[in-house]
Amino acid sequence: KKIVIVGGVAGGSTAAARLRRLDETAEIVMFEKGEYISFANCGLPYYIGETIKERDKLLVQTVEGMSNRYNLDIRTFSEVTTIDRTKKSINVKNLQTGETYEETYDELILSPGARPIVPPIPGIEKANALFTLRNIPDTDRIKAYVDHENPKRAVVVGGGFIGLEMAENLYERGIEVTIVEMAEQVMAPVDYEMASIIHHHLKEKGVNLILGDGVKAFENSGTKIVTQNGLEIETDMILLSIGVRPENELAVHAGLSVGARGGIQVNASLQTNDPHVYAIGDAVEVKDYINEQPTMIPLAWPANRQGRLVADSIYGKKAMYKGTLGTSIAKVFDYTVSTTGNNEKTLRRLGIPYEVVHVHPVSHAGYYPGASPIFLKLVFDKETGKIYGAQAIGIDGVDKRIDVIATAIKGGLSVLDLPDLELAYAPPYSQAKDPVNIAGYVAT
Ligand code: FAD
Repeated sequence: KKIVIVGGVAGGSTAAARLRRLDETAEIVMFEKGEYISFANCGLPYYIGETIKERDKLLVQTVEGMSNRYNLDIRTFSEVTTIDRTKKSINVKNLQTGETYEETYDELILSPGARPIVPPIPGIEKANALFTLRNIPDTDRIKAYVDHENPKRAVVVGGGFIGLEMAENLYERGIEVTIVEMAEQVMAPVDYEMASIIHHHLKEKGVNLILGDGVKAFENSGTKIVTQNGLEIETDMILLSIGVRPENELAVHAGLSVGARGGIQVNASLQTNDPHVYAIGDAVEVKDYINEQPTMIPLAWPANRQGRLVADSIYGKKAMYKGTLGTSIAKVFDYTVSTTGNNEKTLRRLGIPYEVVHVHPVSHAGYYPGASPIFLKLVFDKETGKIYGAQAIGIDGVDKRIDVIATAIKGGLSVLDLPDLELAYAPPYSQAKDPVNIAGYVAT
């Protein structure tokens, strides 16, 4: 069997490794248009902020290492430009030599990811120090600018995960940071009252937070930002982080179906409308695990999970992707913000009735040093107890509580089961009644 993979980072590399484990003899060819495969996208902000000191640490697998280990044919600087589904072939352009050639496949896996949205804001093309962050070359550019040009001020446009992580990391480099966010809150996956805790914390750290306002124009080669509300902000650099768009061009040109937001549509076996073409990762539309509506959730867990399942699926193992819960977490200065499942905004939009409880227990025994409150919110169905989602913000122990609730959701547990979860306890870690138990008691 000859299997061709487009995209060599999160989803693509995972699929390649799993394919090899399932079949020692398959011909596996992986195309990556960039220089690097399997790098740590999620670590990039922390290298810019110098928490991660060595660039090499970001390169999880090298082409040589991975080719040898898994006996793969990996071709970097190789962009797949078209798919011919009738011939079961693709066209490839070698970006170093300009040469183009054809390659056939028995099964094709698309894992091309998503790219940062760059809207046509007036003056954007003339803005010199304007960056987006997706890959190693972007990271090198931003880090070189910070290292050599010594910017004093930065504006981060967009207060999502990447925007906030970058705000913190630029601040760590001694830069004065302004965040401009069009919505009334940062961190869209949490509800407003939870985001407010983050707003307060950002201001406490000296970040200039502008909410409910968007960028109208970049002026003076990008050294001045004019907002829709008429603010003028002087800056030495700009990071644009207003979201990502699926890389769907290949799929669209090949007549594969895409959803309303451009995500490639796949079934539970990760097959597109062509049974020999599969798609995974940030580029695909997924089913929301809670409300079952189609959605886009560009995160590393889904890409990795789908990378493994797609290989299983090709080899006839029963592989079902069950949908995405959207469990996510980010460090925002001293706080951790984490969420799983649906928030109130989503449920309200879909007209699904829900009940909410807020609790703020301490992360571990109050008499043991370092305890701090966890702001924990549980969203559920009052009649059935079905857990729709949870959000948590705090300094300590947030990840564990959201992970427990995410596991409870996938295990089909209801709020009635939460008091009954027997969780690990000793004073440095929790309380005899864990915050998750407490949320369950209050909910029932
Ligand atoms: P990618 O990993 O983006 O890989 C796609 C690859 O395909 C790219 O390298 C691209 O060059 C290549 N490609 C595209 N088109 C072609 C073509 N035609 N021919 C050849 N190659 C092509 N997620 C989390 O869950 N937690 C985090 O903390 C987190 N932090 C992040 C921080 C940053 C700065 C970024 C950018 C992302 C972060 N993510 C995080 C998201 C996570 O990295 C993605 O969800 C994941 O990488 C998606 O995997 P993928 O395989 O779909 O796409």
